Amino acid sequence: MNGTKETPIEFEKFHNIVDGLPRSSTNFHRGTNPSDGKELWEVPIASENDLDDAVEAARKAFKTWSKTKWEDRQEIIKNIAKEFMKYEAEMGKLVMLEGGKPIQFAKFDLGNASKGLLWAASEKKFEDEIISDNADLKLTMRHVPLGVVGAICPWNFPLPISMNKIGPALLTGSTIIMKPSPFTPYSILKLVEIAQKFLPPGVLQALNGDDKLGPLMTEHPGINMITFTGSTPTGKRVMASCAKTLKRVTLELGGNSAAIICPDVDVNKVAPKVALAAFFNSGQICVASKRLYVHKDIYADMLAAVKKVVEGWKTAPAVEEGTMLGPVQNKMQHAIVKDFFEDCASQGYDFALQGEVGKGEGFVVQPAIIDNPPDDSRIVREEQFGPIVPMLQWEDEDEVIARVNDTTTGLGGAVYCADLDRAQRLASRIEAGNIWINSNEKPLPNAFFSGWKESGIGGESGRLGLYNYMNTQVTHLYKADVAKL
Ligand code: NAD
Repeated sequence: MNGTKETPIEFEKFHNIVDGLPRSSTNFHRGTNPSDGKELWEVPIASENDLDDAVEAARKAFKTWSKTKWEDRQEIIKNIAKEFMKYEAEMGKLVMLEGGKPIQFAKFDLGNASKGLLWAASEKKFEDEIISDNADLKLTMRHVPLGVVGAICPWNFPLPISMNKIGPALLTGSTIIMKPSPFTPYSILKLVEIAQKFLPPGVLQALNGDDKLGPLMTEHPGINMITFTGSTPTGKRVMASCAKTLKRVTLELGGNSAAIICPDVDVNKVAPKVALAAFFNSGQICVASKRLYVHKDIYADMLAAVKKVVEGWKTAPAVEEGTMLGPVQNKMQHAIVKDFFEDCASQGYDFALQGEVGKGEGFVVQPAIIDNPPDDSRIVREEQFGPIVPMLQWEDEDEVIARVNDTTTGLGGAVYCADLDRAQRLASRIEAGNIWINSNEKPLPNAFFSGWKESGIGGESGRLGLYNYMNTQVTHLYKADVAKL
């Protein structure tokens, strides 16, 4: 019987969850509400000892969870998704306060998180596959649960990203320890607490930590796999650390995705999509369009149209009625975005949409569009991860493809084009894992999601993503007579 099963869920008290039970700590920190810069609730910081206990509990739980029937695991995952949505109002408020997301988008995150889990719950079992079978040899392949997974998460979409790890890990029979970003610990801790009602202790746990916890997880010999979503520099550290114990590792990292806009589109139809692609969640989306390449024939019209869309949005603290773009999530990211504003201003680039880095206590940044900066400018070369975006002109397909691919990253890309043959030709030439045609970027739980180049290793979501959470075994059965005479 799990200790938290009958405990009412409180939304102003937060615990780590170890072996089915809430656990406090001698050390605490507080997140910051990005809308007003004020401190949020106290949250315990897990120690190395807490991690050791969680790993031990996860290893113990793995023994039975890995043998639990696929259908029973599916049922439990469905129950978690349903239960979690019963707290839509409270969880929505939590996401709004910790993430700086207007309430309608905080709830949108919950919906996406739940869809992610429900997708995992609907995936059919992996059957043993007979590769070949003849008079001499039968070759069979099977996929088996991996073990203990450590999930390290970023702050931009805590719930949907967590669910994309929890669903596949639980479905395929692994146990999982979640580590939220210290900037957004609340919603993940609460989700894991809510889920305990349906799970044996140790199957799904959560530890909030300081800077030490991530490296402790990647080094821990009792963890078999790390699924990491975050920045490319941290991803490289994670991979180096995982190499010491040769853990399996999935890296979903940063990007500098480009959108290519062709001259045959209706500017007024496409501008709202491009504006969303660049600025939704105040630009803090890994696959956001971070460089906008517009054909020269429609450049002036598209610039004016995107500018008009964004000017029509309210950018304000998340709690204010009618806010479309909330603040940047944290002080560190706010400083990075401010630096991009200052660099563009000091280089004399043209701000087609002026934008402004807020001076108040919160981290609100009014969005900016930089008009045709040089290809070697920082705003074109680096991931800004905030509401300041360059719009650039192109003329020739080969030329724009070369510029789009001239980056060390390869996460996403978008093509807007009425001629679908041309759109698909362009899309296929973009060196990235995820391409959208005639839409802003919207990852889906049934679509494999992966980064090329320095945007990642492996991938998640879709049936292909489930393989990452399993070991594969091939049996070579020779039909030789080895029986005693
Ligand atoms: P980050 O790399 O700073 O942190 C991510 C997580 O790693 C946090 O939980 C952090 O505590 C932890 N961490 C930090 N140092 C660590 C270490 N040495 N070892 C182990 N863990 C460590 O990233 P962030 O600022 O939280 O997120 C923003 C970045 O994430 C952007 O670059 C964005 O593009 C990327 N991102 C990628 C995807 C994707 O699916 N590809 C999705 C969302 C965000």
